[in-house]
Amino acid sequence: MVGEKSLKEKTINRWSYSRLGTYESCPKKAYYRYIKKVPEEQHPAAERGIKIHNLAEQYIKGEIEEVPRELYLFYEGFEQLKEGYNDGEVSVEEQWAFNLSWEKTDWDGEDTWGRYIIDAFVKQGNYAKVIDFKTGRFKDNNEGYKKQCSLYASCVLKRFPELEKIDAELWYLDHHKITRFHFERDELIEAKEKFHKRAISMTTDTEFKTTPSEFACRFCSFTNICKDNFYERS
Ligand code: SF4
Repeated sequence: MVGEKSLKEKTINRWSYSRLGTYESCPKKAYYRYIKKVPEEQHPAAERGIKIHNLAEQYIKGEIEEVPRELYLFYEGFEQLKEGYNDGEVSVEEQWAFNLSWEKTDWDGEDTWGRYIIDAFVKQGNYAKVIDFKTGRFKDNNEGYKKQCSLYASCVLKRFPELEKIDAELWYLDHHKITRFHFERDELIEAKEKFHKRAISMTTDTEFKTTPSEFACRFCSFTNICKDNFYERS
């Protein structure tokens, strides 16, 4: 048991899309953030994003009457989500988790391995739509966002195996623009396998080597404690 405990302390045993992104940009950065939990300052844009996501959730759930100013550009979309929520076809900001076999489990269960939160999820029979709310800049054809959507779609396909069609939409709330993706079952099975391998690498790593680069270190909160930081070395 002692061995198990110390191993858990040395690995990042739960993953999400954002954790994977952090880890792959630099394993040491993930170590500081998720194992050592070194405090970080929150960027004002991130704070704003969280606030707007909360407003969207409250509005869809009927906890606030008026459409918040920040959601005006998607007034009709949010009306439809609100109606769908009342009809039991829409869920919002649900915390979903899965184990190593990608089977549904508790958010904080003994066997929890992967976690994801979908901003809005629409399910009508064997059709589902994953919606992600974006604030800030509009990034059309963003490969990272497409991959994020493919992970969410893979997860919901495992959670609801009866699904035949899964779409994903990115709603750029500040721009009144939507990017849409459609996923076939076969490509999701392939995407899931790729994510699985990447997540295994992350959740079994015990070394957390640094991979300094101009990009990784520029957006790192730990440059002051990391002796390998790109700017220190160059
Ligand atoms: S400063 Fe650079 S090398 Fe060090 S943890 Fe951050 S990203 Fe990694």
